[in-house]
Amino acid sequence: MTRVVYVNGQYTPYAQAGIHAEDRGFQFGDAVYEVMEVKAGQLVDETRHMARLDRSLKELRIAPPMTLAAWSRVLRETVRRNRVHDGLVYLQVSRGARPRDFLFPGPDVRPTVVCVARSASKAKADAQAEKGIAVITQPDIRWGRCDIKTVMLLPASLAKETAKAQGAKEAWFVDDDGFVTEGASSNAWIIDKDGRLITRKTDAHILPGITRQVVLDMIEKEKLELVIRPFTVAEAKAAREAFITSATNHVMPVVSIDGAPVGNGAPGLLAQKLRNGYYLSAEISSH
Ligand code: PMP
Repeated sequence: MTRVVYVNGQYTPYAQAGIHAEDRGFQFGDAVYEVMEVKAGQLVDETRHMARLDRSLKELRIAPPMTLAAWSRVLRETVRRNRVHDGLVYLQVSRGARPRDFLFPGPDVRPTVVCVARSASKAKADAQAEKGIAVITQPDIRWGRCDIKTVMLLPASLAKETAKAQGAKEAWFVDDDGFVTEGASSNAWIIDKDGRLITRKTDAHILPGITRQVVLDMIEKEKLELVIRPFTVAEAKAAREAFITSATNHVMPVVSIDGAPVGNGAPGLLAQKLRNGYYLSAEISSH
């Protein structure tokens, strides 16, 4: 249960936590966010998430609302006040509120900052990973700067609704050339018949996932074979294994794509191995 939400310097009871009606996050999607896992009360991969937040803010020319040390205190205090042992912490920064105008406000308008923490069952996620998930494919109708972690998530929301209606947990976006870009809220991977891990490079078309980067580190350490290139839906359906990565799912095996089984239709061994080794490579910090 979420008890309090951090809003602009105050820890506010959940039911009363609100922002201004003319917030630019609300009117223009002019806001960025991060989601970090909380494990045993500690933050997972905080350094990398905060570096990505900094980059997102810079790309949108939003001034950082506080220092890294202040963020660290807010994140931990929000986790503590909500008594989150295992779960996630979400932060959002919008450009702020003022009478609606397409043009940016001046420096007198302060960014709006929100931080929410919530518990999530680790056992439930592990049970899901034992079974794997189904994904469907959807045309990638998003904008040209998917590398910035903005709250403009309507295409992702629509794609996930479509996935749910078809009994799937995630949607993979597909570009005009037939290549998978990424999941609605995850990065996409396959493992080919020769055991090579394949994922596309990070550019403006996908979010540079923190979990993706941790898995890349594991691949390097384990000396696994890696090919950074885009793959097609047909390749993914013919793959030995497929999986997604995200802060809330770690490595989650994909067992079917558009109703067609991947491999033998069960979670792949390498995906499970990467999942099980995740915390050895991730940064876990309590400070
Ligand atoms: N791509 C998209 C579009 C996402 O929303 C997410 C989750 N925020 C990811 C990839 C995975 O990123 P991360 O590993 O940092 O959670």
